[in-house]
Amino acid sequence: SDPNVNKMLERIKADNVKFIRLQFNDILGIPKNVAIPVKQVEKALTEGIWIDGSSIEGFARIDESDMILKPDLDTYQILPWRPVDKKAARFICDVYTYGNKPFEGDPRSVLKKNLAEAAKLGYTYNCGPELEFFVFKRDENGQPTTEFVDHGGYFDLAPSDAAEDLRREIVLALTDMGFEIEASHHEVADSQHEIDFKYGDALSVADKVITFKFAAKTLALMNGLHATFMAKPISRIAGTGMHTHGSLSKDGKNVFFDPSAENQISDVMLYYIGGLMKHAKAIARLGNPTINSYKRLVPGYEAPVYITWSAANRSAMIRVPAARGNSTRAELRSPDPTCNPYLLFSAMIAAGLDGINNKILPPPATDVNIYHLSPEEIKSRGIEMLPGSLIEANNELLKDKVICDALGPHIIENLTKIAIAEEESFRLTVHPWEVERYINNY
Ligand code: ADP
Ligand code: MG
Ligand code: MG
Ligand code: MG
Ligand code: MG
Repeated sequence: SDPNVNKMLERIKADNVKFIRLQFNDILGIPKNVAIPVKQVEKALTEGIWIDGSSIEGFARIDESDMILKPDLDTYQILPWRPVDKKAARFICDVYTYGNKPFEGDPRSVLKKNLAEAAKLGYTYNCGPELEFFVFKRDENGQPTTEFVDHGGYFDLAPSDAAEDLRREIVLALTDMGFEIEASHHEVADSQHEIDFKYGDALSVADKVITFKFAAKTLALMNGLHATFMAKPISRIAGTGMHTHGSLSKDGKNVFFDPSAENQISDVMLYYIGGLMKHAKAIARLGNPTINSYKRLVPGYEAPVYITWSAANRSAMIRVPAARGNSTRAELRSPDPTCNPYLLFSAMIAAGLDGINNKILPPPATDVNIYHLSPEEIKSRGIEMLPGSLIEANNELLKDKVICDALGPHIIENLTKIAIAEEESFRLTVHPWEVERYINNY
């Protein structure tokens, strides 16, 4: 028998865990789970557990729907909010087909495949996402509202309130679950918060993004509140982003840093930026996957609208923070936390590798505030815009062979179905803005 499995079984016993949750993700990045009593865990860890994938978003296959969940031993975590006498732990699983092959609709497997491409060149892909969220009150029926809990501002030191206490609870729970929290602070909008954790390899960080959102939502609910990661819950105030810092390392050394180069930015980093910019429109489909995502990508807030990069200003889509050495990185500022991190990171690394393999240099940096440029200046600099809607982004994705190949036909087909269905549903609905705008005038 496998010594790693035996060690894990002993650990589960020593932790006095009663329930095991086997977690996996649908195409939207929504975690699903199967709970098994601890008695079944040996079987789960050795053979895997069969599930019926037919009703999971983006999983449906015409041939067969029986799939196997294979727990990744590295992802074992006790869920700190469960009562000690009914301890629960989880594993994140990879999804395999009936024929025992990685399922091409499993976002985690798709990311593994793309990271393997980077590994062929000796690269580890490191990601550091900044997760923001709003905390809202619930109404008397327990339904989420958009009512603020606090009225703090950016980095405000608010007197202790429910949202502040909740943020602290989330930080403590995440720390228990192996996160290294680097900072947490109030964001610009009322009731908006950010918690940053230390970057790591893209796979473990994608797992962490899912865990983070799940933990924040669970703890908010336990406190009678609601945490939301939707991109723009309220018109005309700051939306919610998931800026994603990225870098490549080789043999433990950051290859974006080159002390002898201009700005100490290596050629590899320039090509990575070039690739990200070339594929930015397709990446939007992954980083901004909801109709609502495109209400955040508007001028006047922190979110980018134009496909630019800069070492100096924060209105660019890609910013190169001042830190060098091992902290040399490129920050992609377009994504929001409604993204499926496995698919976003897959698209980002595929774009970056395309840049590196084909030596794609980015256009000159835009070191002025882009919102201060006239439309003519923007045009003469050849600056392009991010897509303005989900369906537009999906069409850009379909045109982008590199990103389509990175995600595979199963994912692309299902993303397209979803984009069309969302657009359709949105178009069939009359929105409050329309009524307000037209009911009197016409
Ligand atoms: P900002 O200045 O944009 O608000 P933050 O300081 O909030 O940025 O977040 C920085 C993020 O970048 C953190 O998650 C951090 O761990 C991550 N980071 C630092 N160095 C690297 C690196 N070499 N590669 C990828 N991410 C990194
Ligand atoms: Mg930040
Ligand atoms: Mg910051
Ligand atoms: Mg922020
Ligand atoms: Mg940032």
